[in-house]
Amino acid sequence: MKTIQDVNLQGKKVLVRVDFNVPFDKQGNISDDTRIQEALPTINKLIKDGASVILMAHLGRPKKGGFEPEFTLKPVAEYLSKLINQEVVFTQSLLGEEVSNLCKNLKAGQVMLLENIRFYKEETKGDVEFAKQLAALGDAYVNDAFGAAHREHASTATIAQFFPQDKYFGLLMAREVENLNKLMNNHEKPFTAVIGGSKISSKIGILESLLNIVDNLVIGGGMRYTFYKALGHSIGDSLCEDDKIDVAKSLMQKAKEQGVKLYLPEDSIIADDFSENANIKYVDTMDIPEKWQGMDIGEKSVKTYCDVVLSSKTILWNGPMGVFEMKKFAAGTNAIAKAVAEATDKGAFSAIGGGDSVDAIKGSGYSDRVSYISTGGGAMLEFLEGKVLPGIKAIE
Ligand code: ADP
Ligand code: MG
Repeated sequence: MKTIQDVNLQGKKVLVRVDFNVPFDKQGNISDDTRIQEALPTINKLIKDGASVILMAHLGRPKKGGFEPEFTLKPVAEYLSKLINQEVVFTQSLLGEEVSNLCKNLKAGQVMLLENIRFYKEETKGDVEFAKQLAALGDAYVNDAFGAAHREHASTATIAQFFPQDKYFGLLMAREVENLNKLMNNHEKPFTAVIGGSKISSKIGILESLLNIVDNLVIGGGMRYTFYKALGHSIGDSLCEDDKIDVAKSLMQKAKEQGVKLYLPEDSIIADDFSENANIKYVDTMDIPEKWQGMDIGEKSVKTYCDVVLSSKTILWNGPMGVFEMKKFAAGTNAIAKAVAEATDKGAFSAIGGGDSVDAIKGSGYSDRVSYISTGGGAMLEFLEGKVLPGIKAIE
């Protein structure tokens, strides 16, 4: 792996693809700056080397092709400028004479951010001509956008071909790949995967892949009700994907064949409405009464799951155990967060990924006590499914 750690890019104009796709609150302030913070080691290393840094990033999903005020990266440039204590040159456009002149005139240690790269439709198409024009702005290319590494876009993958000698992994990207490789190929046993979240359909790939490597597969979240139904239970109004019942059956069968212990909670917190104001009940069975729906794992499941986690040497967690956004249904998720932290304290290697799961571990207050939190939701899942990520392949 060629990372910027191993080189000094002094005097070079370095194009760096970062993941600045941050959320904003209603007042237009950045509500979670994790992604910007995570890019700082790479940016600071390049500044220290005496490189000129040209940052490329996207924000949201602009559709029109062209400028859309709600997706401008300008506030991110201002925010970054405060974090690194220096001006961040911001460009309204990406291409054209003005931008190339700005790039040419960038001094050693200066930082520039290009406007939302997805204002150009060519970006998501992975357009070669567009990538070539971007490439002309710099002497070297660094990819540090793990969160976008599963996309074969112009700035995440296509562009790399124009830097056959001068393409590198950024520090964040390198850390992600290292940790995920460790998880997949070089882990201590017992290995427990805790998989939850809403939809089984979005997790089939990872569940199948994990069955080949883990010792314990712990199932939580809304998707467990598809498993319940596959086992012949009535699940009331709980989340269910009827067209995935066969998938659930085959996953259970495969677990048996592979000798993987599959855990499904036997008890649930249920509600008569998908709302914080709903009536709530505890049921100690896989059968959910009509008009009620499962919202969280129950206390027995919590105990079983925490015991499994605490006796593991390697833990992967993706997907909340319940509807954790509503306080009343966050207990299961918070208990798992605590158990993962305690297992880590005892020496286990723990990895957490997925947009909602990362929110959950942060909300629980245990995020400082886990080994590794992935910045890539979709990218991490695809990596763990065994797929080759275009953003990684382009640099390797
Ligand atoms: P991640 O982003 O970590 O990969 P997912 O997107 O797969 O996680 O799932 C997160 C969502 O799953 C959350 O919004 C949560 O409310 C929802 N969820 C968890 N348990 C249930 C449940 N029992 N019923 C409905 N939704 C659930
Ligand atoms: Mg999610």
